[in-house]
Amino acid sequence: MQYSRKCFECGEKKVAKQHVDCLFINPGSLSEVYQTLGNEYCAIEPPSLAALFATYVRNKGASVAMIDAPALQLSPSQVAAFIEENYNPTLIVVVVYGFQPSASTQNMPAAGKTCLEIKTRNPQYKILMTGTHVAALPERTLKEEEVDFVCSQEGPQTIWGVLEILKARGSDFSQVPSLVYYQNNVLISTPKGPLLEDISTCMPGAAWDLLPMDRYRAHNWHCFEDIHHRSPYASMHTSLGCPYRCTFCCINAPFGGSSYRLWKPEVVLQDIDLLVNKYGVKNIKFVDEMFVLNPKHVNGICDLLIERNYGLNIWAYARVDTVREQFLEKLYKAGFRWLALGIESGSKHVRDGVEKGRFGSEDILRVVRMIQNAGMNVIGNYIFGLPDDTHESMGETLQLALDANCEFANFYCAMAYPGSKLYALAQENHWALPDNWLGYSQHSFNTQPLRTETLSAAEVVAFRDAAFHKYFSHPNYLSLVRKKFGEDVLHHIEEMNKIKLRRKLLEEACV
Ligand code: SF4
Repeated sequence: MQYSRKCFECGEKKVAKQHVDCLFINPGSLSEVYQTLGNEYCAIEPPSLAALFATYVRNKGASVAMIDAPALQLSPSQVAAFIEENYNPTLIVVVVYGFQPSASTQNMPAAGKTCLEIKTRNPQYKILMTGTHVAALPERTLKEEEVDFVCSQEGPQTIWGVLEILKARGSDFSQVPSLVYYQNNVLISTPKGPLLEDISTCMPGAAWDLLPMDRYRAHNWHCFEDIHHRSPYASMHTSLGCPYRCTFCCINAPFGGSSYRLWKPEVVLQDIDLLVNKYGVKNIKFVDEMFVLNPKHVNGICDLLIERNYGLNIWAYARVDTVREQFLEKLYKAGFRWLALGIESGSKHVRDGVEKGRFGSEDILRVVRMIQNAGMNVIGNYIFGLPDDTHESMGETLQLALDANCEFANFYCAMAYPGSKLYALAQENHWALPDNWLGYSQHSFNTQPLRTETLSAAEVVAFRDAAFHKYFSHPNYLSLVRKKFGEDVLHHIEEMNKIKLRRKLLEEACV
């Protein structure tokens, strides 16, 4: 594995420095983003998009390597030292995608520090940064970070374009699509290129061999049916983008608008075959923000999974209005054990305000029960502090969560993520935004959500944190957990619920 090229403990050098055309870096810091929840409760996910980009450039003939900083628990300065001691890269690509679209921005502080450390050690290295946040704010990223190139769209073609020119020792980047860079101190932004058309052919699976596959672990709730076996684990894509346009979501920032591309089921299954047979993976997350949508795609993947009968534990996202009864039996047989639903708010008025589908609370409860009756578990996602939210409507959201009593729940605060319509609205209206990218993370000390007409940002965070603890100590929920998952999981939940996140906003405001 790449990370054993030089032993971190004894410092012994195993081999000489390796030349690679393209060295991918997944930046990040679990402790910065999750505080103490990062120790045990959150997942450690493989950087699936970075690994797909690595496949793309490797298939074109380039040599590649990857450093996954959170998985290897490397600080930005350790990443820089590791590169200096082990690699001689033509191009370093820092991929700031996150494990859901909104998680890109929170990784920017670690990404920026990593680039700064690399450049401090060796200013000759060429660094390109790509990702959701970066595509949303390409020029600002180039101005603020220690990088040579920024990608203003999805990534692979821009990475390849820059790499080809560097390998040929050229210096004219003007024909590379979706690139932002300086030439003679003038900021140049090239036209955006077309999106990749046939993702099954040009990125047929992630480059798992570049990753420390023994380091990954599933989310705690994903393994409630077998809580002591969260590893091995993999998260993978079967689609890119989303056809919907929820105003708080930034998923389509790298694609220049709403878009949805699918990998062929056979290609998805080739990847799963490899994960199961080579790495012993049983716990899989489909990263797609919208998996349960296209019947041909869902059925195609399910049929091939049912043929294999691997006994997997898969989770995937769905929307209340895309779940159909006829999907459910097949999903269960294929190994899906959890569906994540973006419920968002208990108030239809608030949901309508963010263009989140035309469904009411009864529809939500009906769909939750339909999934549970099919043998699967539900993770409900809720947001507090959406633009039309009041104290009363946030109370409706919490009540809906308690009524739905899903097997797990995520409670978020509304954020105006760069690349979302909400971000443009916030800027237009001069709403206060975090002064640091970590402020966009949900679980950090610095979390700073949007304020609403009637609620301050501190009130929204305080409500969210109280709702979390209320849900996970509610007798109905604990009784469901005991009955479905047993005493070990109940104990696990009780321990998780003891963790109180520190919040700067609350310490300052004494809310
Ligand atoms: S359904 Fe809405 S929130 Fe979910 S990925 Fe699509 S745009 Fe984003």
